[in-house]
Amino acid sequence: TRILGIDTSCDDTGVGVVELAPDGGIRVLANRVWSQTIHASYGGVMPELASREHVERIDAVTGDALAEAGLTVEDVDVVAATSGPGLVGALLVGLMYGKGLAQALGVPFYAAHHLEGHIFAAASEAELRPPYLALVVSGGHTHLFDVPREGEYVLVGATRDDAAGEAFDKIARLAGLGYPGGPAISEAAQRGDPEAVPFKEPLKGQKGFDFSFSGLKTAALLAHRAGARPEDLAAGFERAAVSFLLKTTLRAAQAHGRDTVVVSGGVAANRALREAFAASPVRAVFPGQGLNTDNGAMIALAGAAALRAGRPPSPLSEGAVAYAPLAN
Ligand code: ATP
Ligand code: FE
Repeated sequence: TRILGIDTSCDDTGVGVVELAPDGGIRVLANRVWSQTIHASYGGVMPELASREHVERIDAVTGDALAEAGLTVEDVDVVAATSGPGLVGALLVGLMYGKGLAQALGVPFYAAHHLEGHIFAAASEAELRPPYLALVVSGGHTHLFDVPREGEYVLVGATRDDAAGEAFDKIARLAGLGYPGGPAISEAAQRGDPEAVPFKEPLKGQKGFDFSFSGLKTAALLAHRAGARPEDLAAGFERAAVSFLLKTTLRAAQAHGRDTVVVSGGVAANRALREAFAASPVRAVFPGQGLNTDNGAMIALAGAAALRAGRPPSPLSEGAVAYAPLAN
């Protein structure tokens, strides 16, 4: 069964194709992402421009993904598209395109949750069966979920202020390291001294499993004003952020009796974070190459999992939603 997945939740037009084998195995056949560059000159994503670019690109990106998979559109058995959360205008483009495609082909349609997509991106690398803990660290989210059963998400912790990726981006901008901040910080950190700037552990002593990045951000700002080198700021911040994410997640894994942790979302591309989790006592699972930041394959993977779990397809009346908590 071939599932085509579409994500247009923000400024990336992503289309991917996965195959669900009769034995339940899932394999990524293609993953194509068109990253919009038009927003760079505005210093942030302009929603209306994002929608228009999705409209212009969606068909070509879909064609590219099918070509990469060696398929034609008639080979598609199921279509999945993100319905939220994200920018409504941007979401609508992929959602309507996906629904139209499903209807034209006469195949089932699944509306996918963007965060469920980020989590299922890790299914490209390992068989993903609950129970497990899922840490989503992206540009807009730092959420820790317990997943006791397929399709069931219990919120264990979340950021009280900035998302992890947002903090990487803001500190990179402050230090003049460019955008997107994650990769820039990671690169600069290798040349820096992590001891040069002191970063205190956020929410130290908390009983829960929340996150917070505003303290690290303030520490970076003060150190920057005092003349700290950008690479030292990067090294110190990255080490502090990674250690905080790891410690909190490990405590949650222990409290919930989980030995598998999925780490996903754009920040999961971070090498220091991956190494720290890989060396920890839990079994850490990450998305494969190109599946950390927004993409369509992760939505196809979420669709495949929904199909495999016997979830009914979504009605074509399903709309786009800006705000949609995954846990209920
Ligand atoms: P959301 O999924 O919450 O709506 P988003 O889709 O914008 O947000 P993603 O595309 O998952 O977010 O991730 C983008 C974020 O990942 C950016 O903040 C970026 O800086 C961060 N990021 C990307 N690569 C790295 C890296 N190597 N290290 C740290 N952060 C990274
Ligand atoms: Fe995302």
